[in-house]
Amino acid sequence: MNSKEILPLFQELGFADTSSMKPQDFCQATAALVGTDASLLDPFEIDFSLKKVFPPALAARCQAVPLTREEHHLCVALVDPFDGEALALLRFMLDEPIEQIVAPPERVKELLECYCSSESNSFTPVADHLEQLLEHAVATQASDLHLEPSEQGWTIRYRIDGVLQEHPSFSKSRGLAMVSRLKLMAHLDIAEQRRSQDGRLEYRSRNDRNSPSSAFRVATLPTQFGESLVLRLLDRRATCLDLEQLSFPPTVRKALLELLLEPYGLFIVTGPTGSGKTTTLYSCLQHLHHETIKIVTAEDPVEYELEGVLQIPINEAIGLSFPRTLRSLLRHDPDIIMVGETRDAATAKMALQASLTGHRVLTTLHTGDAAGAIARLLEMGGEATTLATVLRGVLAQRLLRTICPACRMAYQPGEKLLASLGLSHTPNDFHFYRGEGCDACQQTGYAGRQAIFELFLATDEIQNLIHQGASHLLLREKAIEQGMVPLRAEALRLLCEGITTAEEVLQWT
Ligand SMILES: [Zn+2]
Repeated sequence: MNSKEILPLFQELGFADTSSMKPQDFCQATAALVGTDASLLDPFEIDFSLKKVFPPALAARCQAVPLTREEHHLCVALVDPFDGEALALLRFMLDEPIEQIVAPPERVKELLECYCSSESNSFTPVADHLEQLLEHAVATQASDLHLEPSEQGWTIRYRIDGVLQEHPSFSKSRGLAMVSRLKLMAHLDIAEQRRSQDGRLEYRSRNDRNSPSSAFRVATLPTQFGESLVLRLLDRRATCLDLEQLSFPPTVRKALLELLLEPYGLFIVTGPTGSGKTTTLYSCLQHLHHETIKIVTAEDPVEYELEGVLQIPINEAIGLSFPRTLRSLLRHDPDIIMVGETRDAATAKMALQASLTGHRVLTTLHTGDAAGAIARLLEMGGEATTLATVLRGVLAQRLLRTICPACRMAYQPGEKLLASLGLSHTPNDFHFYRGEGCDACQQTGYAGRQAIFELFLATDEIQNLIHQGASHLLLREKAIEQGMVPLRAEALRLLCEGITTAEEVLQWT
């Protein structure tokens, strides 16, 4: 029997229209039909310890919530009290006597949502729940926090060390409340749900008011199931990073410091998204910062606030594009210009022009290796002659995940693995390491990341080659001949030292 078949019975009992029934009457009539007791379950406190015997997945599937359990006798309420199939499945799965209580379907639904949502969070106020999420992001040094709506509810994912980790999800209503509150905190328009918005929020732990505040960039994106939010943690501590603290090999550090002191010219940092390019550039600026020097940046967006540096956010929506911003900031008589990213011909041209007219220009590009930056700039319409004159160097970088020290173990690599790494020795020569996974690293086997670099220096010979239009390959070979250590070689060094895994080396170099 289901609720559709039951309606005629209600009519026989004298209720012409069940929708007009009071919840109490509905419950009592239903309970009488089912042969059990009724309760409004208001108030009612969920016993989350029942999750051990009554998994939330089963609750969701049967649309039933457990109420009490006494002497192995479980009391449940179903959203549809006439759903005999669900009841039979529960009896089969739980293997213990089950008693049904009839309660208003809306109330059972509410309790079910609480029961199935993350931990006991459902009883914590939205503000506290949100605080827990932000706190976790700061504590785990996550770079991003994702809130993603789906048909069933909301998924929470943290990006830690470059990899997404999923966390217990929560209900639709809770998700909507969280999104609204986050938008409010980020000074966004709450009513606007069909257009994407960008904002920024400051967060300080409520437990420790003296702790430094954390800043998040908040971006909304409308999806078919509602607004998805991504919070990027803007790590202020990164601004304290000086070049000395980045993991440069000594020779690279020395060459880089010399290069940065050149009175004019172009310095480029390359790498994929999330490889730490911005942190490196900021560290360079921090190093160059001096009261006698004027530094101006054009960024999309401004990720960290740098003291003593004039930072201009790019805003395409109001016509403040990179080329236009560069044009205006050149009139501000800067010594050093940082262009967040060179991604179009106009920006490339302006950057080259600025470095030719006596400025130090620092920028980033999306290319695989350092030598590739030259081909990329030429593709974007840069002139080989100008480039040969102004280019000082290109730094390519990657971030490799480092092995969790708590569960690190050695193993002997097979020949196939060695071959794919380009190593021709016998397996006996090598011990590689990997993390087995433990509580300390949340079973990932990794903890933290380390940067590797390859520094391409524009020596006289290299400048000549650029002038002559030499190929990417030729430029790279020449640089290696002159002492450039390629990314792959640096990665293999970390691998052999037991700092990272073969998987990371293969993925990133
Ligand atoms: Zn571990």
